[in-house]
Amino acid sequence: VIRKGSEPIMDIQTGIRWMELFNEKIQQEKDYLTQLDTPIGDSDHGNNMSRGMTYVVEAIDTQSPDSLEALLKIVTANLLSKVGGASGPLYGSAFMGMLKTYQEGESSWRKILQGGLESIQKRGKAEVGDKTMIDVWAPVVLALENDGLTDEVIDEAVEATKPLKAKKGRASYVGERSIGHIDPGAYSSALLFHAMLEAEAE
Ligand code: ADP
Ligand code: MG
Repeated sequence: VIRKGSEPIMDIQTGIRWMELFNEKIQQEKDYLTQLDTPIGDSDHGNNMSRGMTYVVEAIDTQSPDSLEALLKIVTANLLSKVGGASGPLYGSAFMGMLKTYQEGESSWRKILQGGLESIQKRGKAEVGDKTMIDVWAPVVLALENDGLTDEVIDEAVEATKPLKAKKGRASYVGERSIGHIDPGAYSSALLFHAMLEAEAE
């Protein structure tokens, strides 16, 4: 749980642990992510994220970043170049936005994730309710500003993508038929935030 007022700071050790845990979750849930991307997509989200995160943790391992800035640069570069699909540039933008926010002197998770969210929206032009990863990122940032972020908040945001009709990305091509399915990018973003809570709690 990250609660309001305590303002946890993102540092290099937590950041590295965050990426290791995110990678573990992505590899564990790779098939489920692909399954989610089948009725409303092209069944590649699991592979996309799995490949990208394999490169991210390998690069962290070989380059041993010694600052948060160096870490965020490695993550950004690998997500941009290795994930592919629509989600690659979007996740890449997210980490680029976080890096920029950190370089501007902010180090709280709240501010950094807000910078990530703004950067995804600048790139993908999706709003809350369009059935994309934004539907998890926005409530997470909001929770950090208000009552605090818990695993439940994250899971509820994912479930809430189910009744939505997709208005952005590949899922929007199936129109009404996207209703009733969880958005794959929302689910992978949930894994990112569960990993963050775990890393922060360690
Ligand atoms: P592709 O759609 O190219 O096959 P992926 O399957 O890897 O790429 O990723 C799909 C996910 O990307 C969606 O579930 C959605 O969450 C996210 N997405 C797609 N378009 C946008 C957008 N414009 N803004 C935010 N997220 C988006
Ligand atoms: Mg896809």
